Amino acid sequence: MTVATEPIHTLADLDQWSFPGPALAVVGRPVAHSLSPVMHNAALAALATTRPEFAEWRYFKFDIAPAELPAALALFHRQRFVGLNLTVPHKALVVEHLESADAFVRAAGAANTLSASQTGWQGANTDGAGLSAALREELDVTLEGAHVVLLGAGGAARGAAVTCLRERCASLWIGNRTPATLQALLADIEGFAGATSLHHFDLGHPSANLPAGSVVINATSLGLANADASPLDLNQIARPASVYDMIYRPPQTALLRQARELGIRHAHGLSMLVHQGARSLELWTGATVPVSIMQAAARAALGAN
Ligand code: NDP
Repeated sequence: MTVATEPIHTLADLDQWSFPGPALAVVGRPVAHSLSPVMHNAALAALATTRPEFAEWRYFKFDIAPAELPAALALFHRQRFVGLNLTVPHKALVVEHLESADAFVRAAGAANTLSASQTGWQGANTDGAGLSAALREELDVTLEGAHVVLLGAGGAARGAAVTCLRERCASLWIGNRTPATLQALLADIEGFAGATSLHHFDLGHPSANLPAGSVVINATSLGLANADASPLDLNQIARPASVYDMIYRPPQTALLRQARELGIRHAHGLSMLVHQGARSLELWTGATVPVSIMQAAARAALGAN
């Protein structure tokens, strides 16, 4: 089944839910093109070849509006869903509905992975670990000691910023279009900065001081449309070390095009998607998850859509 033909479930379906096995789901709006069901179901099928208990597990896709989220969470729990992934626009909205949240969720103010307890939902955030693994795998980047220029201050940037600080990057420069969103993020993370020197800049007027040899991470949504401009002219940085764009559809954004033209190592966000998904599945199943199978399934689905 391709991404395009997978059923998209709604709040109304939850009331009548009759799937007999352990269920997982991604919850978002829009959610139609989410690759998560394809890659999680491929991993579950692979796990089931040696662990038959996973043969009955399935991962579904739910289109849920922000106003429906509290009711949906209660119904998912009543229908005994094992776990949920949250995507746009629910990652920050869900936090106030959690029974408990790990330290990363509390710092980032956003959760992407919920696990059912007897009485509610426990929140975790695997986006940061996914980003970190993707940077290592694709660009040979270790955040510890790196100078990082992070573009954006939304949900994804929050996870990335907390990860950069936790992994003790040397300096973190965060640029955003809207000052208020940037200030809110800075206020939330300042206490975790430790030895990292924390800076901010206006994305429209980048500072001339962005450090030479930086790792550039795009966590804005600028690039999702084919005609979008780049969020940053890479000529603003002397010898950027590498560029990671969290966007993976389209696979070639204006930022990545410029990185290629300048001969800078670069990668798009599919690897982050795969690694955050693998960590979520590990949390739910307790099993060692076949990352390469998730990657192959996501790549095939991306190519086919
Ligand atoms: P949010 O809506 O929370 O944040 C969007 C960010 O993009 C904000 O910083 C916003 O700035 C900025 N932005 C939007 N439009 C523009 C514009 N025209 N010019 C400049 N800045 C702009 O989204 P998320 O943080 O959840 O997601 C951000 C991106 O990361 C998306 O493209 C998403 O697909 C991707 N992502 C990828 C993941 C992966 O696994 N690969 C995981 C999570 C996200 P402002 O404050 O000014 O509005």
